[in-house]
Amino acid sequence: MVKLGAHMSIAGGYYKAVDAAAELDMDVVQLFTKNNNQWNAKEISDGEVAQFAKSLKETGVGNPLSHASYLINLASPKDELWAKSIESMVVEWQRAALLGLDGVVVHPGAFVESDEQAGLERIVQGVARAAEQVDAKDCWLLLENTAGQGSCLGWSMEQLGWMLERTGESMRVGVCLDTCHAHAAGYDFASESGFKAWEKDAKKHGVLDAIRALHLNDSKKGCGSRVDRHEHIGLGTIGREGFARVLKHRVLKKWPMYLETEKGQDESGQEWDAVNLQVLRELAS
Ligand SMILES: [Zn+2]
Repeated sequence: MVKLGAHMSIAGGYYKAVDAAAELDMDVVQLFTKNNNQWNAKEISDGEVAQFAKSLKETGVGNPLSHASYLINLASPKDELWAKSIESMVVEWQRAALLGLDGVVVHPGAFVESDEQAGLERIVQGVARAAEQVDAKDCWLLLENTAGQGSCLGWSMEQLGWMLERTGESMRVGVCLDTCHAHAAGYDFASESGFKAWEKDAKKHGVLDAIRALHLNDSKKGCGSRVDRHEHIGLGTIGREGFARVLKHRVLKKWPMYLETEKGQDESGQEWDAVNLQVLRELAS
């Protein structure tokens, strides 16, 4: 059985994300452990940790995962921002470990005014420095593939493979595969041949075996658009067949999958998360 869930709000407490996921019959949940647009956060209390664990246990929701702040740029050529990003990555990773999460997902970074190679080297160094400072055996740092907008790195399997080769399992570094980002980056997930080409590339660069979670999002923009706009499952340029292939893939189906699609209700008043989950469950069966 494929494990499906979504990114949920922590408004009112971390356990609220778990309870809301359970309410919608999700198997897994992703959350922020701090405000994703701010550097600082107050410490997580013992009470919050206990309440979170209790909710997981009571609801049966599993594989909790966090998404790191969007301010972090481990590829930054600016020393000050780079140092701050590493520091913040350490905090994110420690918070995830404290809450007993499977891991924390981060966008590798953008090289801005340097170049691809310099950016990739910065990311590897930054991740290594963070890993040194975090003692969390079962909590992984997951590099997320990006759509390749602007100077964002990690859109190609080759770039991800390059970073993994220099970090990887010994540092508890893996990959979170986002379907929308892969498609927008130029891997045609809408076609059988495009998906096979992605699979071949992911295998070749050691990415396929490093995947530990997936973000399931359809894409508003076309394959190769390099634009990151999530769409509801089946309603975008990837389409239902594309998701059926992902859900049935012998390696991918083993890992927890999280929706990051828009919240709210469809025309009939049903929660979009519930609608998307239903589509995914149909396609997975
Ligand atoms: Zn994502």
